[in-house]
Amino acid sequence: MSDGQRMRKLYENLGICREVYEFGSKIERNLKERFLAFDETAEYNQMKVIAAMQKHRVSAECFQTTNGYGYNDLGRNTLESVYAECFRGEDALVRPQITCGTHALALALLSNLRPGDELLSPVGKPYDTLEEVIGIRPSRGSLLEYGVTYRQVDLLPDGDFDYDGIKNAINEKTKMVTIQRSKGYAVRPTLSVERIGKLISFIKNIRPDIICMTDNCYGEFVEEKEPLEAGADLIVGSLIKNPGGGLAPVGGYIAGRKECVENAAYRLTSPGLGKEVGASLGMMQSFYQGLFLAPSVVNAALKGAVFAANIYEALGFDVLPNGAESRHDIIQSVTFHNPDAMTAFCRGIQAAAPVDSHVTPVPWAMPGYDSDVIMAAGAFVQGSSIELSADGPLKPPYAVYFQGGLTWHHAKFGILMSLQKLYEQNLVNKDRMC
Ligand SMILES: *Cc1c(COP(=O)(O)O)cnc(C)c1O
Repeated sequence: MSDGQRMRKLYENLGICREVYEFGSKIERNLKERFLAFDETAEYNQMKVIAAMQKHRVSAECFQTTNGYGYNDLGRNTLESVYAECFRGEDALVRPQITCGTHALALALLSNLRPGDELLSPVGKPYDTLEEVIGIRPSRGSLLEYGVTYRQVDLLPDGDFDYDGIKNAINEKTKMVTIQRSKGYAVRPTLSVERIGKLISFIKNIRPDIICMTDNCYGEFVEEKEPLEAGADLIVGSLIKNPGGGLAPVGGYIAGRKECVENAAYRLTSPGLGKEVGASLGMMQSFYQGLFLAPSVVNAALKGAVFAANIYEALGFDVLPNGAESRHDIIQSVTFHNPDAMTAFCRGIQAAAPVDSHVTPVPWAMPGYDSDVIMAAGAFVQGSSIELSADGPLKPPYAVYFQGGLTWHHAKFGILMSLQKLYEQNLVNKDRMC
């Protein structure tokens, strides 16, 4: 048997038929240049991470655990310097006590805003979970309850910033601006770091003292630059997404201007204590090693996203971003206009997972959603979306959002398996696969 046949046989044993395998191979062959460009970004970011670790003298002692108050925790303090260095901030807060991305964002907002201040989102509606943090949906402990008001300026129909609207919305109360880099579950393009920079310059031109925060979730290491280099004062993200590299089992980070980061620390622990306390509880090695792997894990996820975009685009489905567009986060959506196809896709992703591959995802009524939701995730870390995962609400237009993949080959297998499930149920136009 030739090498090609051997590989095809291996996939066949895992349930991928010859037609699906060969269609995938054809698509993959056309992506060499895209993949090469991702590799270059990953190489750049890998060197950036290593340089930061060397400069701050990461050593074996940094992986020791602390408990109790966690005073003088060398591993924690060094890690925060490494994050600050990597993301070009003055300081960073990187903690297992930050439970998720929403918590990190809530900390950054609740600690830097005071009663009477106003928060502005100049890029439309923020991520769903932030609605309750802000008080767009009434919620206990929201910014609104503390007397912080909110304004929003939507993007223009063509996706551009509404500069006039933003200028009019800024007033003497405006203290902070929140800019979400990734589109999340909204239908708008993800913002490049360059576009974020233009928006921040515009705002700082009107009022240089406004604190510009970027929700950096899913964006880390996708480009060579991060938003702090484009003028943001704060960036915020989750460690079970990009920067945890799949190894961090929990956590979030805030990086940027020293004063803003310290405010967040005083809110996370206590006034007077700030960054000085917070035991690292044995997490440090996974945080360091995850950050070290993050550039190549993000690289794998990007390859998977572009592979899927090209596969499903070739089959006639709407994909966002499209197969050729430049990438600014790791999220890919595919619109099926058909609940069975959406379900089949998720079942394929699940069936290809290293964990829980024998489980069949079924749509269910998740709290907070007005329709059933289907999810596929066979992850080592619960809810980790840097691992290959897919989800979406089971309602028109039946769009699935998927992301992640710790390795490119697993992402590829997952996407082939998703197509296999559609193929078996005659939910794709087989003529397009020749
Ligand atoms: C995931 C995400 C969040 C929230 O993070 P959780 O860890 O799920 O709480 C916020 N904003 C964006 C853009 C995200 O993608």
